[in-house]
Amino acid sequence: MTEILQPKTTEAPKAPLIRLCPWPEGRSFALFLSHDVDQIHDRELFRVLADANHIRRRLMQGETGDTRLAGIRLARSLFWPKPAPKDFATLLEMEERHGFRSTFFLLHDKYWARHGGRYSLQCPEIQNIARMILAAGGELGVHGGYYRFNDAVRYHESLEAVESSFGVRPCGIRNHLLRFSYPETWRAQAAAEFAYDASYGLPGELGPRGGWPFPFETCDVSKGELLNLMALPITVMDATLFRHLRLEGEAALEKAWRAVEGVIGVGGMVSLLWHNNYFNEPEYWDWQMVYEELLNRLAPLKPWCATGAEINGWWRAKAAVNVQTHPVAGEKTRVEIHSPQEIKDLALEIRSTNEMRTSLPNVRLEPVEGGTRIHFPRLSAGKTVTLEVATSH
Ligand SMILES: [Zn+2]
Repeated sequence: MTEILQPKTTEAPKAPLIRLCPWPEGRSFALFLSHDVDQIHDRELFRVLADANHIRRRLMQGETGDTRLAGIRLARSLFWPKPAPKDFATLLEMEERHGFRSTFFLLHDKYWARHGGRYSLQCPEIQNIARMILAAGGELGVHGGYYRFNDAVRYHESLEAVESSFGVRPCGIRNHLLRFSYPETWRAQAAAEFAYDASYGLPGELGPRGGWPFPFETCDVSKGELLNLMALPITVMDATLFRHLRLEGEAALEKAWRAVEGVIGVGGMVSLLWHNNYFNEPEYWDWQMVYEELLNRLAPLKPWCATGAEINGWWRAKAAVNVQTHPVAGEKTRVEIHSPQEIKDLALEIRSTNEMRTSLPNVRLEPVEGGTRIHFPRLSAGKTVTLEVATSH
């Protein structure tokens, strides 16, 4: 395909500056919503013990919380346990209101251990929950187990356990408690055939770890190897706000929003990690409130909200796109865009004050400040699209 983009204006020659937009459709930032599913049962020994301990520490050591609400929560779990799907229905509805979808990392690890799995992948409740998630367009990933940490064989077992239980092959993983060691964690995850890791974040800090809010390809510099595993850095985790930083209510919301705004400001990927088991809990009302309010603030900004699998796939496809420019006669520049794999909604910006037109099928031009954005709804694998841009009249 070749098309001449004709300038309509008569301005002085100016070389176009080409740039690939970082996100599909030229959206200004991405949004990755995710949930670590540590527990789903309201009446469960470790949950009851943790709540009883919380009340004891509240009374004897002044731990923050509300003794009355904690007591009601404990009694409820013993006598009128909350149905397991309830919190998932709440958060899926909250996301669906804005057209958002999310990723759920399922814990598959030693059952009946302090840091182990609190549910079996075979139990009818999680089967029902997984169907709800998939019906909503969500993704199932693996929550890397505490007792499987950095163990490629057992990570792979978890991948296969999720696949055989729910009929979808997970491509993403996030370690329980964000456990991470470099380079062992990424080496083990890559060897277990995961395509991306979402563990990259510090439990006690807001904002992306190391200040890098974009997906990146992991590597092992000690061996000089790229690992074929993308990392999706975390921006805000609920437990960071409420547990590690001990924030509450509006203060937690504003701190979280400041971290989010920073990522939006550089056009990065906002990644929120919220646990399912703090929804519909009067004692932990602000965990739900902050998540809901962050979504309310994010939605009007029109991010590209996608699952981890979609972000991983699109980012890799974009990274493989090759754009070359060649000067040609008549003060024009030829732009060749080659994509080795199919990519949808790629956008390219040409910094030129010349107004442009095109008759290329399915290609849309959009004037943006200082230039033109060119939208390619679909580029086929292995095809090259050529544009000629007039750089003067
Ligand atoms: Zn966890």
